[in-house]
Amino acid sequence: MTSDVQSEALAQARAAYDAVKAKGLKLNMQRGQPADADFDLSNGLLTVLGEHDTHMDGLDLRNYPGGVAGLPSARAMFGAYLDLKPENVIVWNNASLELQGYVLTFALLHGPRGGQPWAGQKPKMIVTTPGYDRHFLLLQTLGFELLTVDMQPDGPDVEAIERLAADASVKGVLFVPTYSNPGGETISAEKARRLAGVKAAAPDFTIFADDAYRAHHLSPDPAGQDTPVNLVTLSRDAGYPDRTFVFASTSKITFAGAGLGFVGSSEDNVKWLSKFLNAQSIGPNKVEQARHVKFLQAYPGGLEGLMNDHAALIAPKFRAVDEVLRAELGDGGEFATWGSPRGGYFISLDTTAPVASRVVQLADEAGVSLTPAGATYPGGRDPHDRNIRLAPTRPPVEEVYEAMRAVATCVRLATEEYRAQ
Ligand code: PLP
Repeated sequence: MTSDVQSEALAQARAAYDAVKAKGLKLNMQRGQPADADFDLSNGLLTVLGEHDTHMDGLDLRNYPGGVAGLPSARAMFGAYLDLKPENVIVWNNASLELQGYVLTFALLHGPRGGQPWAGQKPKMIVTTPGYDRHFLLLQTLGFELLTVDMQPDGPDVEAIERLAADASVKGVLFVPTYSNPGGETISAEKARRLAGVKAAAPDFTIFADDAYRAHHLSPDPAGQDTPVNLVTLSRDAGYPDRTFVFASTSKITFAGAGLGFVGSSEDNVKWLSKFLNAQSIGPNKVEQARHVKFLQAYPGGLEGLMNDHAALIAPKFRAVDEVLRAELGDGGEFATWGSPRGGYFISLDTTAPVASRVVQLADEAGVSLTPAGATYPGGRDPHDRNIRLAPTRPPVEEVYEAMRAVATCVRLATEEYRAQ
C-alpha cells in the first residue's frame, strides 16, 4: 500500500473507533459464565427436594455414612455422562478444578498409584496453548514447570507431546479434550488413541483430561456435534490402565460453582484417590448430589434435554460473533482469523498483526471488557501477541452484536496503527 492509502485507512479506522467510543458502551465479553436465562433453566434445583426427601439409595442424606466416592445414583448418572461405569467415578463437591488440584497434589506428595512422589523430581507438565489460564495458575502454584504444545484443530499436537515425554521429568499433560477453552477444538478419535498410548520415559506419565464441555454442543443434531472421546478406556486398551483422569462438573450445566464436580479413572485410581480424600473428609455433600440427581432425572429429556435448551440460548450468541466478524473484517484473514466451534463456551480470535494487547486496550477504553491479552498463555504472555479469547455466553444476544461490532472496530484500528508504524 502507498503511504497515502495507508494513512487514509488509518484515519477511517480512527474515525470509526471514535464513533464507537462516543456511544459510552458498558459491555463485557470476558466472563466464561452462563447467562441468567441459562441458570433459570435449573431453578427447579432450588425446590426439587422437599422436607420428606431425606433419603436416597438407602442412605440418610442428613448424616455422614456413604463414603467418599459419592451417592450411588450420582456416580451412575455422572459415570454415564463420562461414558464410564459408576465404580470408575467419584462425585465430589462443587468444582472440578478442586478435584484437579487434589489429584495433582496427591501425585506430588505420594506419587500416582505405584509411582514415586513427583515433588522433588522437578516435575514438568505439558499444557496446550492457547489454553485455560486457571490450568496454568493451578499447575504453577503447585510448582510444576509448564511446557507448551499447540492446540490444533483436531486436538493437542501429539507429536510434540511424544517428543517432550521422552524426558522422565515430564509427568503428563493437562488439556481440554472436548470443545477446548478457548478454541473449541475437540480431540479426534485417532489422536486420542495415539495420546493414550504415548511411550513416555516417566512410567507414571498421566493424562489429565478436563472435560468441562463434554456435552456442551451448540446443536441438538448429532450431525452438528463433535464426538467426545473416552480417554480412560483408550489408555486402558493401550496397556496403561491407570494413565488417565477425566474431570468434569455441572458448572455449565446447572449452576456455576454451585453444583457437582466429578472425576473418572480406573477402579484402582478411584481407590487411590479415595484413600487420600478419606483422610480429609468423611464424604462429599450428599444433599447436593441427591438434588442434582432428582432434578436432572425429572428434566424433560434428562441432562441431554437440558443441554439442548442451553444450546438454544447459546448458539445465537456464537452466530452473532461470527456474523459480525465476517461482516466487519471479511473472512480472508486480512485483519484476523477466528474459529467456528460447534460447542463449548469460547471463540478464539487471532489478529493477523501482533496487536492483541492493543485491541484489548482499545476495547477497554471504548467500554468493552475483553479477556486480558496473553491470558491464554502461561505467565499471561502470548509470544505472538495475537490471541484473544471471546466469551459470548453471558451477555444477552443484542449485547454480543454491539460488543463484537466494537471489537471489530478495535481490531481494524490496532491493525492500521501497526501497519502505519
Ligand atoms: N475447566 C475448564 C476448561 C473451564 O473452562 C472452566 C470454567 O470456565 C472450569 C474448568 C471450571 O470448572 P469448575 O467450576 O467445575 O471448577
